Amino acid sequence: MSRKVIIAGNWKMNKTAAEAKSLVEALKPLVADVCPNKADIVVCPTFTSLAAVADAVKGSNIKLGCQNIHWAASGAFTGEISAAMLKEIGVEYVIIGHSERRQYFGETDESVNKRLKTALAEGFKPIVCIGEMLADREGGKTEQVLEQQLAGGLAGVTKADAAKIVLAYEPVWAIGTGKTATPAMAQETHAFIRSFLNRTFGTEVGETIRIQYGGSMKAENAAELVAEKDIDGGLIGGAALKADSFAALVKNAIGNAL
Ligand code: PEP
Repeated sequence: MSRKVIIAGNWKMNKTAAEAKSLVEALKPLVADVCPNKADIVVCPTFTSLAAVADAVKGSNIKLGCQNIHWAASGAFTGEISAAMLKEIGVEYVIIGHSERRQYFGETDESVNKRLKTALAEGFKPIVCIGEMLADREGGKTEQVLEQQLAGGLAGVTKADAAKIVLAYEPVWAIGTGKTATPAMAQETHAFIRSFLNRTFGTEVGETIRIQYGGSMKAENAAELVAEKDIDGGLIGGAALKADSFAALVKNAIGNAL
């Protein structure tokens, strides 16, 4: 089963609107020759930069994503953002349950599930993040933790909706640390995630769901990671903040995609 590569840049709390616009303007010509049939290229700026970036990516092969979505349509939820607000700007992808949201802002599998269901109901393409902490891996609990995050985060999702989800496996110990899981280690975990998806949604859906790797992925290691059977792209932090490093990563990843 070949799945289209998806490389998404998570810009986190970086770049003002003006800086975000410059970054995407610099990126556009560098990836202009990447055929949209070969890969989805997504950038996920912070909320205040979404409008500027939406404008800048019009007519290009770069798609717009954001970093969160609230489950309620509107109301007293200070600091949150609704589906309608994101839709109006033209956001297509939504990152849900990033480990920084889980670690610093109390995101749980239950809140991930609520955000996910709203994102699906409102027609977004969710990128659902899961991943174990270093202590989990060292304690031999990686699969148990991932199983729990998957079961809780994806609870009640229909087969038809599951097919619209992208999963991002991000070992927390590899995020922003320069420590990457080896391709073999990442593949072993991706295969475990794939088996959960196949069991839960059937192979006809499970085999189509794209699973990104995230955690210190860069131009230098993208090709070997994406060459693995169940690694279908990347969710990129640091290396997405410069046009040349992100473009090189995209091209290396596609060059070696299965
Ligand atoms: C991330 O936060 O999603 C991430 C993978 O960051 P980095 O690429 O910097 O490790």
